[in-house]
Order: sequence, then structure tokens, then C-alpha cells
Amino acid sequence: MLIKGSTEIYGIIGNPVAHSLSPIMHNSAFEALGLNKVYVAFPATNAEKALAACRALGVHGLSVTIPHKETILAHIDSIDPMAQKIGAVNTLLFNEDNKIHGLNTDWIGANKALAEKLELQGKRILLLGAGGSAKAIGFGLLEAGARVIFASRTENKVKVLAETLKCDWTHLADIETIQADGLINATSVGMSPIENASLVPAESLGNFPVVMDIVYAPLETRLLREAKSAGCEVITGLSMLLYQGVAQFEAWTGQDAPVEVMRTALMKAINE
Ligand code: NAP
Repeated sequence: MLIKGSTEIYGIIGNPVAHSLSPIMHNSAFEALGLNKVYVAFPATNAEKALAACRALGVHGLSVTIPHKETILAHIDSIDPMAQKIGAVNTLLFNEDNKIHGLNTDWIGANKALAEKLELQGKRILLLGAGGSAKAIGFGLLEAGARVIFASRTENKVKVLAETLKCDWTHLADIETIQADGLINATSVGMSPIENASLVPAESLGNFPVVMDIVYAPLETRLLREAKSAGCEVITGLSMLLYQGVAQFEAWTGQDAPVEVMRTALMKAINE
């Protein structure tokens, strides 16, 4: 696309951002719909200064990533109720009066990815992890009427998270004893370069008909490879990444996102 004086600027702020797949995903979508918009990566160590600069330069929308998803709340003008509950945003809209509104689309992406294989209402989900993603996904699953059991490495962290969401929790060592409709890995275990790791013993995967990993590099983690062998339905981390981006695109443009264009762009980038 030819960048003109009138081209609207979108982007991602975080540190690091050079590896982000969001520019590829959103630019392919802008181009497919012929929109006069461009999406760039802004490495930013200071969220407050980065926001002030974006406001001053007339940026139209931002994705927010590590380490700013929570601290940036102090510098925005309004927040969506789910993002408020989660205590983190990954999407910012700059309104016409230059006010900044925050949303969280991570939970939307995770719910949509899981819902492709499992109706969530009333289902029991074992959710591994107690970090930022586990929190957003946990709130999202509850919102969809599912029941959540957390399991994570650091006991006081998982306890606090489970208490906040009024959910059960267990030790990682005990997950073999759990049966649930679905299992989600929301830890970084299995991610490149430590690819050959999984928190779930292969022999207990039969306890979970649907297994989703939010790690997307590699696309087929050891967890998903073993889950497939155990006969589970599997969902890769690409689905959550895609659908959180679809929700961002639709919030920024008010148009239906070209989902398959975005999926293909992500797939190509991950395979490369
Ligand atoms: P985070 O806040 O740093 O949380 C990481 C979680 O992983 C923590 O609960 C941590 O446990 C756990 N963990 C890390 N190493 C572990 C190990 N060796 N054994 C057991 N648990 C371990 O990170 P996050 O933002 O939630 O992201 C987690 C992963 O999701 C990353 O790989 C990220 O790339 C991926 N992600 C994917 C998407 C997507 O759209 N597909 C979106 C966001 C994130 P402790 O609390 O005990 O340290």
C-alpha cells in the first residue's frame, strides 16, 4: 500500500516488539479491504511517554503488549468493563476528542478459539498458568458460563488468582487426577527455544477431550502433539492470536475483519 499524507496510523507499543506478528496481521487486513491505514511497531519502555507521543501525533489506535498491559491503565481516559475486571488492556482506541479508551480482546480471542471446538456454557476447564494471559482467559471463560480450575507453579500466585475469580485451583503435580471438558495451557512452557516441554503427562491427556495451547511458536507444541496422539481435539495458539486481532481490527475500523486473510498472513509468518 502506498503511504500518503492522509494515511491513518495504528501500531503496537511494548518492549520488545520487533518479533510481533501484529503488524503482518493488521497490515494484510488493511490492504485486503483497501483501507488507507498502516500499522507499525513502536518499541516503548515508558508507556506514559509513548501514549503522549501517540496522542500528539494523531495515532488512531494501538495494541499494547508486555510490559505495559496493566501499568498503562493509569494513563488512559476510559476502560471497558471486562478490561477493568481483568485489570489489563491490550487495545486502545483514540477517539475524535483525542481521549483514549482501553479494551481487552485477549479473552475474546481465547473464548472464540475454544468455542470452535467446545460450547463453553457449563463446561469445566483446567487452565494452566497464573500470569497475565491466564487471568484474562479465566475471566473470559467465567463470562461465557464455564467453570475454571487453575493449576500453576507458584502456589501463592495461583491461590490469589483463584480467590479473585472465585474458582478452584490445584497443584501442577495433581493435574493427573483432574477430569475436565477442556484444558488450556496459558503458560510459556513449550515455547521456543524450550520446545520439548509440557506440563501435562501424556498419559493423562485422555482426561481432556479438547486441548488448547496459547503458545504459537512453535505452532504444534509438545502438548498439542501428545494430545493429538491421545485422540483429543487440539487448538493451536494461532487461533487466540488471530481472534484477539480480529476483535481489535473490528473495534478500530467498525468493519468486519477479513479473517481468512489474517489467518493466512499469520500462518505464513509463523512458518517462516
Ligand atoms: P506471564 O504473565 O509471564 O505468565 C507466564 C506463566 O507461565 C506464569 O504462570 C508462570 O508461572 C508460567 N510458567 C513459566 N515457565 C514455567 C515453567 N517452567 N513451569 C511452570 N510454569 C511456568 O506470561 P503471559 O503473558 O501470560 O503469556 C504466557 C504465554 O502465552 C507466552 O508464551 C505468550 O507468548 C503466550 N501468549 C499467547 C497469546 C496468543 O494470542 N496466542 C496471547 C498472549 C500470550 P509462575 O507464575 O510460577 O512464574
